[in-house]
Amino acid sequence: MENNQPSLELKHFINGKYQKSQNQETFETINPANNKVIAKVSLGNQNDIDNAVAVAKNTYESGVWSNLALNERAQVLHKIGDLILENKKALALAETKDTGKPISLSLNVDIPRSAHNFHFFANFLTGFKGDSYFNNPNEMHLAIREPIGVVGLITPWNLPLYLSTWKIAPALAMGNSVVLKPAEWSPYTATLLGEIVNKANLPHGVLNIVHGYGPNSAGSALTSHPDISAISFTGETSTGKAIMAKASSTLKKLSFELGGKGANVIFNDANLDDAIPMALKAAFTNQGQICLAGSRLFVHNSVFETVKNKLITLAENMRVGDPLKTETEIGSLISTQHVEKVVDYIAIGKAEGKLLTGGNQILGQESTNFIEPTIFSEIPNSSRLCQEEIFGPVLPIIKFTDDDNLLEMLNSTPYGLSASLWSSNIDRCNYYARNLKAGIIWVNCWFLRELATPFGGAKMSGIGREGGRYSLEFFSEAKTITYKYGNHW
Ligand code: NAD
Repeated sequence: MENNQPSLELKHFINGKYQKSQNQETFETINPANNKVIAKVSLGNQNDIDNAVAVAKNTYESGVWSNLALNERAQVLHKIGDLILENKKALALAETKDTGKPISLSLNVDIPRSAHNFHFFANFLTGFKGDSYFNNPNEMHLAIREPIGVVGLITPWNLPLYLSTWKIAPALAMGNSVVLKPAEWSPYTATLLGEIVNKANLPHGVLNIVHGYGPNSAGSALTSHPDISAISFTGETSTGKAIMAKASSTLKKLSFELGGKGANVIFNDANLDDAIPMALKAAFTNQGQICLAGSRLFVHNSVFETVKNKLITLAENMRVGDPLKTETEIGSLISTQHVEKVVDYIAIGKAEGKLLTGGNQILGQESTNFIEPTIFSEIPNSSRLCQEEIFGPVLPIIKFTDDDNLLEMLNSTPYGLSASLWSSNIDRCNYYARNLKAGIIWVNCWFLRELATPFGGAKMSGIGREGGRYSLEFFSEAKTITYKYGNHW
């Protein structure tokens, strides 16, 4: 029998040191691709959060980081980015074991992007300027930005290091101290980041990491803590609502990156050679567990059969299996609970529409957390399959004609994170880009990101924007200082 007792222990990282929970409690993190326990993880609670916040507050007030010159802060951030790249293989392996995502994705996207988050904000920081106004000869008005203090970051499991560094890098860039609560399903790479920041000489106590669950655990303790000045959260819309309610008594600044139901639209004049392979990627990358996924595909009736047939062929050729094999394109979903949710949606699809391909859990692996890329047609746009975030490899294709009110269909979900438009008619693209209620519109592309641009969602997909100056503004407080001069001369 396999020894399933983990020797690895993932502890909190507080004041530059790995520490167990004060009450010694732990939970397990499991490799969803084989259901083996990877590690015991310290289970944080209110006391551990109190401790981490107190450390972060003392560190902040000491000025050891918040008063450092910008170029010195930037140097440390660059060093963290460099060390992430130096440790790319180990980090990618940890990420894949913890989440079931294909190793090629961890190696080529998640980990390099985590490094880039630090390099990008290190560079961007030094060009981030305040304002000054000299409209009257006897007055000078300065608008400066200062750190906010101690910020709480709460992150999801689908892109663990990628999304936690997307928040940590700008929060540190602005001189704050941080308490991060990583997702309980994927605590591994955040823990490894502790070693990296120590090697990069980030002062102890600037970045603190506390593991645990959300409600009635480390997550909610962070959101209600009076010494946390701001919360940046990425996760489900329903969790965003809970955090907002909890944070209201201490009036924290909030930034929310929430769920999505991205529309991908292929018009009759689209370049199908580009549009079809990208529609496949948009639907199935990371097993469909991406907030920006193109998870409902609208196709004009004149090209519908071509797009449908090609997509079915491509989906059936996707290599599903062991996430550690470099050729694997679809790995395992995050957990058995999540698989059950996705399987329920597949059942709705079978009842309401036509299954074109997939639809099965793949058995015979060491775990049953693998699901075939699944495509449906003939599903009404009002169906839950087209309206709700499934967060799995399930794609409804919706045929539209010139007589349909396409814009209304596209805007019909409660979400408004992203959409992709495929057409060679620039006027048409402009019309939809301007009238879609979403934070990010891609024209003839998907997932292309320039980190300086605002990132975030409309409607139930979020509050605020992150990226470039939007992140730096969120993680800082504006202050006006006005000087009045006398008439001495
Ligand atoms: P989740 O909301 O279940 O959990 C996210 C984090 O919140 C975890 O760390 C969890 O422990 C914590 N949490 C849960 N309840 C909490 C509470 N009451 N108080 C404080 N913390 C709490 O989300 P998930 O399942 O980890 O991630 C998937 C979701 O994230 C999807 O909806 C996806 O669209 C969304 N997401 C959005 C973006 C974006 O940029 N908009 C990016 C990635 C993922």
